[in-house]
Amino acid sequence: MTYDFDLYVIGAGSGGVRAARFAAGFGARVAVAESRYLGGTCVNVGCVPKKLLVYGAHFADEFELSAGFGWSLGEARFDWATLIANKDREITRLNDIYRNLLSNSGATLHEGHAKIVGPHTVEINGERFTSKHILIATGGWPQAPDIPGHEHAINSNQAFFLKTLPKRVLVVGGGYIAVEFAGIFHGLGAKTSLLYRGDLFLRGFDGAVRKHLREELTKRGLDLQFNADIERIDKQADGSLKATLKDGRVLEADCVFYATGRRPMLDNLGLNNTRVELDDRGFIKVDEYYQTREPSVLALGDVIGRVQLTPVALAEGMAVARRLFKPEQYHPVDYNLIPTAVFSAPNIGTVGLTEEAARKTGHDVVIFESRFRPMKLSLTECQERTLMKLVVDAKTDKVLGCHMVGPDAGEIIQGLAIALKAGATKRLFDETIAVHPTSAEEFVTLRTPVAG
Ligand code: FAD
Ligand code: NDP
Repeated sequence: MTYDFDLYVIGAGSGGVRAARFAAGFGARVAVAESRYLGGTCVNVGCVPKKLLVYGAHFADEFELSAGFGWSLGEARFDWATLIANKDREITRLNDIYRNLLSNSGATLHEGHAKIVGPHTVEINGERFTSKHILIATGGWPQAPDIPGHEHAINSNQAFFLKTLPKRVLVVGGGYIAVEFAGIFHGLGAKTSLLYRGDLFLRGFDGAVRKHLREELTKRGLDLQFNADIERIDKQADGSLKATLKDGRVLEADCVFYATGRRPMLDNLGLNNTRVELDDRGFIKVDEYYQTREPSVLALGDVIGRVQLTPVALAEGMAVARRLFKPEQYHPVDYNLIPTAVFSAPNIGTVGLTEEAARKTGHDVVIFESRFRPMKLSLTECQERTLMKLVVDAKTDKVLGCHMVGPDAGEIIQGLAIALKAGATKRLFDETIAVHPTSAEEFVTLRTPVAG
């Protein structure tokens, strides 16, 4: 049978665009459907605008620190509308770049909502197209508990487009988005509380990292409330919000922001017209080749719910394109040692096993840790401390995990991820000459174990 396309990609986000461009580059006839925004979550309501807001929020620190270096500034004033307008302009520029990337690669772009109507057929804007393979790369969507008054709360999609900076914000959740946005709102001057249902946020991160960040955020005046869960939200006559917690306490705010995880985006996708199955969390079930139970339908990125990070979606997109259209270049995605950063203030950077996971998986570990006040702060009143931690296998001397809380942790951890992938031992770290004076050099000068 002849098809209109070799590959029909649904979703022009990180993973979809990467798969489409590579497949088209390998000579495949490719179409991409996009219903909302080119570049997907990362470009429009994720990594990119988030990082721009994080940069914006950091200036408050810089202004304060500059006094110790002899600077005196006039009164600093912040204008949210300017930041958002400039951010929007940059995102529009990136949308255009994505459009050009796709058209230059030879892929055909269909703008509209795509629905799968058969194992080889997609319907979009009233037209039907056939394809040998269909790739679902539809990403995710914020999800929040269905409590009374949930309609008064916002999620990350809306946070990027608020007309004004709220004066008082309650951020609900204890994952990446909650911690990052609490830092953004706080840094920009909003009175911010972070409410997390458990004992300590960032479940799954190294215990020392979680505690260190709790201390540093508290020092900065961010109100952290653990074991706190909202039961209902009521809008008051003056437009402000009243959040009643399960323990009976009442908190008032101008904005309640839920960052309580993301669900796969499967709305009106037509999966019922296929044999595609979902896993027990509701994400699309795929095998090691990203193939669903319907042989012609593949899926990748956030919609399969493995690791919800842009570089992972990109790697999966590349793997799919290569396997289908350039098998001699195919290699599977390596899910080990994925580095990641939380762009909180200060940043977290992490790669490899946490101490808890290393012990749990039977490693005999040696722990190296350093806490210090970065040199940049030495002429200032700021008492922020940086944490660096290495988890080392006692038997093999291999470094199993590197963890950091401090300025530029995300930048620093990228290089360390290469070392860990290369199987670096603690001895190799020790033999590496430091770059002085930096904070990063601490990772190669940790001499005395703090725990074994
Ligand atoms: P997406 O990028 O979500 O793309 C899916 C696309 O499919 C969307 O454009 C959508 O409109 C389209 N679509 C959906 N259904 C249809 C349909 N039926 N028809 C046509 N089109 C459709 N990751 C990082 O690595 N670093 C970060 O700093 C980071 N920060 C983040 C901050 C926030 C606030 C959020 C929400 C996420 C962040 N992420 C970050 C995660 C990252 O954005 C995602 O992992 C990544 O975008 C997933 O890519 P994807 O291709 O799977 O899906
Ligand atoms: P996460 O899964 O990281 O965190 C969700 C948080 O919400 C957890 O603390 C969870 O608590 C809590 N939660 C879940 N359900 C409820 C509920 N019903 N009531 C109260 N709290 C609840 O999701 P995010 O939304 O923060 O981010 C989604 C994903 O996007 C991340 O996992 C990450 O992969 C990606 N991302 C990456 C970033 C980066 O690389 N810097 C930045 C932003 C997002 P508990 O732990 O108790 O389950």
